[in-house]
Amino acid sequence: MIQFLYMRLSEEQILDFKKILEKEKGKEVSMAEATDGAHRLAGLAEIIYKGAQEDIKRKQKLKDNPKGYTIEGSYTCRVCKDILPEHIGWYDKWGIKCMTCQNAINKKIIPGSQITDDDKWYSKWDLESRFGLNRHGVKKFKKEGILISREILNDNGSKHCEIFLIKDNKDFLPPKKLVESHLVPEKRDGKIWHHSEPWYRFVDPYEHLKDYKIMNYIEFVPSKDKKK
Ligand SMILES: [Zn+2]
Repeated sequence: MIQFLYMRLSEEQILDFKKILEKEKGKEVSMAEATDGAHRLAGLAEIIYKGAQEDIKRKQKLKDNPKGYTIEGSYTCRVCKDILPEHIGWYDKWGIKCMTCQNAINKKIIPGSQITDDDKWYSKWDLESRFGLNRHGVKKFKKEGILISREILNDNGSKHCEIFLIKDNKDFLPPKKLVESHLVPEKRDGKIWHHSEPWYRFVDPYEHLKDYKIMNYIEFVPSKDKKK
């Protein structure tokens, strides 16, 4: 299975893929389309495979460096989502972080065990995309003490980023799985495309989140917006 990723695809493999594609589409596809599709799929599988291989290597190196080590290459910080230039990130059992976020973990400002799991915290972007809560709203709620954030500071004391742990805001913020957007199929140019729509278009938001206090403070304009 893995070997074929590094080979050119044979005609037989492309023909096999063509059959699968035709079955799925319910119509004949050209050899050119099948060749293109098969190579794209093989390319994608190779990327995933390489990523998994890298992950295994990193975990192996961690055994000799249990506290973590500087990583090579350019990555995205798990916490602040900044893109890190080479040799600036830190890798340990909680994943890849920039040095500023790593220091916040070392100082126990943010718990590593929580940030590893995206379902355990909201970023500012999450609050905005899922509840329409912008930075002014966040500031106001924080000031009123109804929303608790953990602030990560730069060396000069300015704010680097802030996160909102669900465990700090248990009655206020719902589990993230309740407010995930949905993929909706749509037919365009004879093809099926998918686009994502926010969670509140599929439910009565006030009923859906009645156990969470955030609903006492935000407003939705649902009915005309809502899709049945
Ligand atoms: Zn960071």
